[in-house]
Amino acid sequence: MTDLIHLTASELSSKLISGEVFSVEVTQAHLDRIAAVDGDVHAFLHLSKDALDTAAGVDVLRKSGSPLGPLAGVPIAIKDVLCTLDMPSTAGSKILEGWVPPYDATVVRKLREANLIPLGKTNMDEFAMGSSTEFSAYGPTHNPWDLDRIPGGSGGGSAAAVASFEAPLAVGSDTGGSIRQPGAVTGTVGVKPTYGGVSRYGAIALASSLDQVGPVTRTVLDAALLHDVIGGHDPRDSTSLKDEWPSFAAAARKGGSTPSLKGVRVGVVKELDAPGFQAGVTQRFHETLDLLQRNGAEIVEVSAPNFEYAVAAYYLILPAEASSNLAKFDSVRFGLRVNPVGGGTVEDVMAATREAGFGPEVKRRIILGTYALSAGYYDAYYGSAQKVRTLIQRDFASAFEKADILISPAAPTTAFKLGEKIDDPLAMYLNDVTTIPANLAGIPGMSIPMGLAPEDGLPTGLQLMAPARADARLYEHGAAIEALLEQSWGHTLISQAPSL
Ligand code: GLN
Repeated sequence: MTDLIHLTASELSSKLISGEVFSVEVTQAHLDRIAAVDGDVHAFLHLSKDALDTAAGVDVLRKSGSPLGPLAGVPIAIKDVLCTLDMPSTAGSKILEGWVPPYDATVVRKLREANLIPLGKTNMDEFAMGSSTEFSAYGPTHNPWDLDRIPGGSGGGSAAAVASFEAPLAVGSDTGGSIRQPGAVTGTVGVKPTYGGVSRYGAIALASSLDQVGPVTRTVLDAALLHDVIGGHDPRDSTSLKDEWPSFAAAARKGGSTPSLKGVRVGVVKELDAPGFQAGVTQRFHETLDLLQRNGAEIVEVSAPNFEYAVAAYYLILPAEASSNLAKFDSVRFGLRVNPVGGGTVEDVMAATREAGFGPEVKRRIILGTYALSAGYYDAYYGSAQKVRTLIQRDFASAFEKADILISPAAPTTAFKLGEKIDDPLAMYLNDVTTIPANLAGIPGMSIPMGLAPEDGLPTGLQLMAPARADARLYEHGAAIEALLEQSWGHTLISQAPSL
């Protein structure tokens, strides 16, 4: 038997289609892997009790000759921010401990309809606020490359599950970088689709104008295959685009089959190639630029002068929207309820519940957001931040006149040590300095492995960005760049990960 856990989703798909393996075997192999390593990694918060039964059902369907999609029978891990009918959905918070939603998120429904096998729910920073998964109320996830280090956040659980071969695929959510930054520090691939490209229905909201659900995988092709399943219009999400999307898998196959960047204008954003980044990250980034140039890319420098304000604007807009979204956790409708000793009014119960149910980062952002939205300060803070957002969108528009795609490091450093930044909110916020602009503008972004940093031997990530709706361009050029990098190394990056 081949080592099923080390195969990509697309390789598993071929073996399932040819009948060489059954979904039950593939699913069992991943459950065994989870049992062996998740005590150390802690990627999962809940495991599905039904995974093997679901897999057996798909095997029966296949035997009966039913037409099945390419990822049918392939296991997947789901970030705990997505509502699932059959498993708790806590968003990493105590306030939702044990809460089982009465409906599936649209993305989850699509996964089930495409016959993927949900393995369980993955750990995350509480309500997706964080860059290290240390703000989970259920304890941190550990980076499989070095268990003393963070796996990125907020979707550290999804990235670690994929990097440690506990799952071939996962879904995450990205409000300011929570798919791409974990991808960068775990040597995996992460995609934030165009805003509105994937339904947010049933994704527990952090900041509604920034949130997008997207793929977490080990290859660009796998991300494309998964995006083809979860994307598309959803009448239940008022911001969902009505576009007909091309096949992202076809785009990835095109780019990966004869990898070249001939004639592609690759823009390097001056402001995202910053002197403060870790030396090994900058070194790998510049080597990648040379590689792309040798393979036909026309490298152009672009300037985005307003990116310098992106993090500041984001940390006003996000807390403002979060403070409003989290107001529904009122101890009345669902989740935790704490009765103050000696009783009290409804307000007292609400206050006691929020005090016990929300962690420190969530409280910090609710206070910030409420302040930024308060009468008298609204224009000065929230209003100004929205204006900066428009300026950033204009920076992107002029950059995309000169370039077909933009590239930058996906994170300024490799994975840092657990505990290193937890008491320093500003240091934590700066981890997303390269990813936040794409969320503010609603454009798609992808992170792919860019090599190991020479000073610590840990993964670095390359970010690619494209204009809104041009996600297919990311898959085509992302697959080409991935193939060129792997040719230059002589192996895939993930194959260098320690086996735990
Ligand atoms: N790290 C960023 C934050 O803390 C991004 C989070 C996310 O994308 N969900 O807000």
